Amino acid sequence: MSKHIQAVRGMNDILPDVTPRWRFLEDTVRKLFDAYGYQEIRMPIVEATELFKRSIGEVTDIVEKEMYTFADRNGDMLTLRPEGTAGCVRAGIQNGLLYNQTQRLWYSGPMFRHERPQKGRYRQFHQIGVETFGLTGPDIDAELILMTARLWKQLGLADAVQLQLNSLGSSEARAAYRAILVDYLRVHHAQLDEDSQRRLESNPLRVLDSKNPAMQELIAAAPKLSDHLDEESRQHFTELCALLDAAGVAYTINPCLVRGLDYYSKTVFEWVTDKLGAQGTVCAGGRFDGLVEQLGGKPTAAMGFAMGIERLVALLEEQTMPLRDYQPHAYFVLLGEQAQREGLLLAERLRDAVPGLRIESHCGGGSFKSQFKKADRSGAALALILGEAECEQHTLGIKPLRAEGEQLQLAQHAAAAWLRDYLEQNQYEQEQSSGSV
Ligand code: ATP
Ligand code: MG
Repeated sequence: MSKHIQAVRGMNDILPDVTPRWRFLEDTVRKLFDAYGYQEIRMPIVEATELFKRSIGEVTDIVEKEMYTFADRNGDMLTLRPEGTAGCVRAGIQNGLLYNQTQRLWYSGPMFRHERPQKGRYRQFHQIGVETFGLTGPDIDAELILMTARLWKQLGLADAVQLQLNSLGSSEARAAYRAILVDYLRVHHAQLDEDSQRRLESNPLRVLDSKNPAMQELIAAAPKLSDHLDEESRQHFTELCALLDAAGVAYTINPCLVRGLDYYSKTVFEWVTDKLGAQGTVCAGGRFDGLVEQLGGKPTAAMGFAMGIERLVALLEEQTMPLRDYQPHAYFVLLGEQAQREGLLLAERLRDAVPGLRIESHCGGGSFKSQFKKADRSGAALALILGEAECEQHTLGIKPLRAEGEQLQLAQHAAAAWLRDYLEQNQYEQEQSSGSV
């Protein structure tokens, strides 16, 4: 007996009933990035393991326990990318995009982390990310945050997410603070949970990031990084806050926001929601001025963020969706053999003449009734009808499916113009149209 093969745990099929939400998000994001002058970059999904070790840091959750790493047939150690920043920086250095230049880049695609699968946390998940290079000031930090704030508005999520901000200071200031924090944590060693005891030696700032309720009091009373910032970072942060105030973007300063990865400095931020349970961060980013140099490039300022598509789509599930942008405009009902043959070609001519027109043609014959059932289920606004009589007379029937209205009989050569008008009047988005049937 054959057993059905299942998808890998934590790696999901994204089925047709949810892909319209994904596309709504992706389409909106693409237009938004265009509006701010960001360019798309596409990196490989597999990179040398060393890249992630050197950039993300050896003592982070990702590198310690979450990477999908394997030896390929040559024995080279490779890793399925757990995030996009490392690959983006590698690509920028390798292709000469970073030296003495400014770049505003974005990417999207699957990421892989061997985590415990649960709601909002998967082993293959998807991110859309932005990285900017060569821009040092708080103005670009503000631009990135304003861009995300605009995205939430466009997605109808503005009320669902809140902005948290912090500054990690320069790496020197952080090193000095680290010593102070370690002293404090050592005094309270007995109260630290197992994870935190481990992190105390390897990555003590991460202790502040602990989600364990039993640790929260200790964390709240810990010395604050913000009291130990270097002057430059303090000023950078003050200016960023002033820019956000001027733009009317609300935020909370969260002194415990340290982010999981080693490469951040100065500004870090997260957009969080309380509507998704424990996995509430939908977008996270910060400045990583040291990373390009760390990966062998010349010192280059950098600032970016990544958002989790699954979590945003989960938030979108509560919104009413403009589904009609993804459904066919018209379902083509084809009655009889002649109509099946001619209809296929007529649909082609209509698509030529009305770019952007979405027609789902019925295939495989069947009764009037069964074809109309399918038409209804397709979500189309119109049925186009071609039967024997229409073929004889070179006409086409058009019947509204979602509104009152009689069936209309048009000459076939007039159908394209009619459909073009229909799309316009019903405010469907159209591509540049050209030609006629
Ligand atoms: P978390 O604290 O939730 O583990 P993280 O700090 O590991 O997040 P980042 O590396 O900053 O996450 O990734 C940016 C965003 O990608 C997160 O805010 C989240 O929305 C999303 N994300 C991260 N890991 C996963 C995952 N395993 N499944 C789904 N989405 C994820
Ligand atoms: Mg994580």
